[in-house]
Amino acid sequence: MYGGIEAGGTKFICAVSDQGEIIEKISVPTTLPEETLALVFDFFDRFELEAIGIGSFGPIGIDPTNDRYGYVLATPKQGWRDFDFLGSIKQRYDVPLAWTTDVNAAAYGELLKGAAQGKNSCIYLTVGTGIGGGVVLNSDILSGSAHPEMGHIMVKRHPEDNYEGTCPFHKDCLEGLAAGPSIEARTGIKGQNLPEDHPVWDIQAYYLAQALVNYTLTLAPEKIILGGGVMNQAHLLQKVREQFMTLMAGYMETPPVDEYIVQWGMPNESGIIGSLLLAEKVHREANEFA
Ligand code: ADP
Ligand code: ZN
Repeated sequence: MYGGIEAGGTKFICAVSDQGEIIEKISVPTTLPEETLALVFDFFDRFELEAIGIGSFGPIGIDPTNDRYGYVLATPKQGWRDFDFLGSIKQRYDVPLAWTTDVNAAAYGELLKGAAQGKNSCIYLTVGTGIGGGVVLNSDILSGSAHPEMGHIMVKRHPEDNYEGTCPFHKDCLEGLAAGPSIEARTGIKGQNLPEDHPVWDIQAYYLAQALVNYTLTLAPEKIILGGGVMNQAHLLQKVREQFMTLMAGYMETPPVDEYIVQWGMPNESGIIGSLLLAEKVHREANEFA
């Protein structure tokens, strides 16, 4: 049996899988670390787990040679900044642990069981309260000294957009200009209530398409998968595809755009399923090298 944790800023989803099937799942609110983890432990204590996979909100320390490996870093979330998340799990459960970001876990889940099945590489991008991306290349999560922060890239401004941007660090980075809150800030209306023919969707698509062009030029994945609340707008997906083709301008060959840029295959589940699959992977690797 494997345990999975999708640690989000508002809730933790914990699940246990057996023979590839989820047998139990709970959701607990993200409050203070000690409180939230007490509920997580109550849940997992009931099972004989062989490994646990964690996909966490970030930023997090992912470089094993750094002394803050396993920590939650500069989050505004009360109590979590500089918290040794991985260490706390390790102290409780003496099993192999997989540790990555929520979006990396989602990318991994989508590759194995979702929209990128049969591929070796994909990018997963969530467009919700924030924007974050995860990358799987050669079936492995891409990571270096830190994890990618694909939401905070710089984009060229739309000529008709003079909104300053919501990012507390950069103001008008991609997240600042294209995450859900920017739609509401420009229009006074939440994205889910905005009509399809509102001009702000073109602005939105312009920024997202630029990001996808940049990711494509840098990483050349086989698929790009879009998730998150804002991407519930099917017409937006279509606009992003069109703008992507325009901006790429025939320079780099990609798969047909309708197959290349797609919606998530496991809405709201990619992260937890990916975390469980990462637990399975780390268990397999631990046995191989034992
Ligand atoms: P979170 O990012 O907090 O996990 P979501 O992915 O649901 O949660 O993102 C919330 C953001 O997405 C909000 O800004 C909300 O207005 C926007 N949003 C949610 N649903 C839709 C929708 N159907 N269409 C457009 N925007 C939406
Ligand atoms: Zn930013």
